[in-house]
Amino acid sequence: MSQKRDYYEVLGVSRNASEGDIRKAFRSLARKFHPDKNPDDSEAEKKFKEVQEAYAILSSPDERRKYDTFGHGGAGSSPFGPGGFQGVNISMEDLFGGGFDGIFNQFFGSSRGRRRSKGDDLIYRHSVPFQVAMDGAEDEVEIEALRQCKECDGSGSKDPSNVRTCPGCEGRGRIERVERLGPFTQRAVSDCPSCNGKGKLIQDPCDSCNGQGRYHQSKKVKFTIPPGVSSGVRLRMRGYGGAPKMENGSPGDLYIEIDMQRHPWFERDSSDLLMGLPIGFSDMVLGSKIEIPHIDGKKLAININAGSQPGDTIEIKGRGLPHQGSSRRGSVMVVLKLDMPGKLSKKEKKMFSSMSNILGTDIEKIEQRIRDEASRRRN
Ligand SMILES: [Zn+2]
Ligand SMILES: [Zn+2]
Repeated sequence: MSQKRDYYEVLGVSRNASEGDIRKAFRSLARKFHPDKNPDDSEAEKKFKEVQEAYAILSSPDERRKYDTFGHGGAGSSPFGPGGFQGVNISMEDLFGGGFDGIFNQFFGSSRGRRRSKGDDLIYRHSVPFQVAMDGAEDEVEIEALRQCKECDGSGSKDPSNVRTCPGCEGRGRIERVERLGPFTQRAVSDCPSCNGKGKLIQDPCDSCNGQGRYHQSKKVKFTIPPGVSSGVRLRMRGYGGAPKMENGSPGDLYIEIDMQRHPWFERDSSDLLMGLPIGFSDMVLGSKIEIPHIDGKKLAININAGSQPGDTIEIKGRGLPHQGSSRRGSVMVVLKLDMPGKLSKKEKKMFSSMSNILGTDIEKIEQRIRDEASRRRN
């Protein structure tokens, strides 16, 4: 389906590697291929991105399970949404401590201050009818999230001038400590406990938000779902996540994860639609044309050739789902099923027996028929 390398292979770990193993492998590879160490080396840059993506998946228990089950682009397709991997799920700070900030920031295009006080990313599962895979949709949801308090503009204080800079962190909201790991020293960064990461102490808290500067509010979010979308795709709504702790921070992102409802008869294989069509014995023998309503609004005509067999597949090109980001469409695959009559009335029984010379089993030639069937099946 895709030429992507296996994530385990990328990190050089086994399929049952522990979280610690994966983290260790990532750290060493990320350092090796880092752009600063390999200036103007596009191969290294590619490797570096590949390593990050593999780590983003394998370090998340949920994503790892999905990947183990479905592989690349399997059910749910890219967990990073239609835009592909953006590098958003990795906290470099967690991994490397503050010392690596500058290096990674340029890569993710965010400034030091910005990322440090970014609000939470949110994920919202959004159920849509199957028809959306055909047409796409303009949708709107109401999301409850921590948002900036309007009374105090996020300052948390009744009177904005009545705020003291936190002495514990000198207003940075974060404290750093140096840790020794064997021959290495590394700086670990965490929220300042005195001010709870806000960088300031509020003397006279705002009543609306209890001095937090933000509180849970619901907000309407409008978004566009592209045609060809499938379950598990995440749409990224930049800035629609939680408000940051600090006034000058930026809000997190909202990810809308599409959960597609089932179609009454189609199964889906990427842009192809699969269905079973039960037809009677005589339609299979004599051939027939069947028309059914279809998701593109036009009737779907299925031509059954005379002499068809149960299990035969008819491909109708160009009537499946649109490929994402293109006007091309997949196929409808129709598998013929023999629709056997159930309980017969007396009259029907009579009619069938009168036709047993053509409908029944020719006992005389049974062995030859078994051989014929076997060679057909094996071809
Ligand atoms: Zn502080
Ligand atoms: Zn407030």
